[in-house]
Amino acid sequence: MYSREDFLKEQVVLSKLFSNGIKSSRLSHAYLLYGENSSPLLDSALFIAKSLSCKKGGLACDECDSCIRFNKGVHPDFMLIDGEEKIIRKSNIEELSHFFSMSTAEVNHISTYVINHIENSTSEAVNALLKTLEEPSGNTVAILTTDNRSKVLPTIVSRCQLVPIFKPDIIQKVNSYKGEFDRRAYYLVSLMVYSEERKNEILDSKEFNSAYEVCLDYLDALIRKNEDPNYILIRGGDYLKSNKCYNYFYSILSTIFTSCLLDKKDGILDVYTNGLNPYKKYLDKAVALLDEAKAKSSANMNFTFTLSCLALIMEGK
Ligand SMILES: [Zn+2]
Repeated sequence: MYSREDFLKEQVVLSKLFSNGIKSSRLSHAYLLYGENSSPLLDSALFIAKSLSCKKGGLACDECDSCIRFNKGVHPDFMLIDGEEKIIRKSNIEELSHFFSMSTAEVNHISTYVINHIENSTSEAVNALLKTLEEPSGNTVAILTTDNRSKVLPTIVSRCQLVPIFKPDIIQKVNSYKGEFDRRAYYLVSLMVYSEERKNEILDSKEFNSAYEVCLDYLDALIRKNEDPNYILIRGGDYLKSNKCYNYFYSILSTIFTSCLLDKKDGILDVYTNGLNPYKKYLDKAVALLDEAKAKSSANMNFTFTLSCLALIMEGK
């Protein structure tokens, strides 16, 4: 979650919107925070939720007992439903309604809930949520987030105040990175997720590191021709064994190929983006393949099949 200092620095517009809203008691019943996939959606939502309950009546102070309980994850008037890894079901929304009907409504006191990745809900869950949003109770504020606004039902969107969340300057962050991991890997992971905690988890995971290794070997083989790139893909097919690995593999390659297509000079991936220039005419197709494979990975799109398609594309076939 954001510290007060970072929130004020990185989310200037949001800071103003909510500190004014809280001070003048002019808050909407529901907000939809939206942004690209590595923007700090959940971090912002949690910080706002904490601020709405802060006893000092402004952005979260991190000192009052409400903020302290929030930081410990034991706030009695707050609930989080996270659709990042699990689909949100009707029972989750029912649990939410039940939770708030039981909570003791003090005067001048706000209850909040955050639904992270609202786009990842079943239609039954969305209908149940719509009912809740249509009959807002006086002191409950809903904060929804999404990194894909087109997948959120328009009837939900129309009941929320829309709040764009901007990405902080990633390059600047990477350049001042002093952690233990490879800077290039840190950069690639920073493009996928926002929170430092999640980044460290990914950078530490076997799945990411195996995928990263195969990607770099493959790029080296394409650029330096020190090995047969197709052999690296075949070996990769034997070596990478889980959906998580496949997704990291697709994300890393797609990011680097896209950087080359856009002629992005970030000082971090330049070796690859410059080196890939001879393949530029194939990269559009390759990125489309990787993104499609990533979207379908939960439906078990065959990894080795994707790799053989990639090999053909990169040979111009
Ligand atoms: Zn506080």
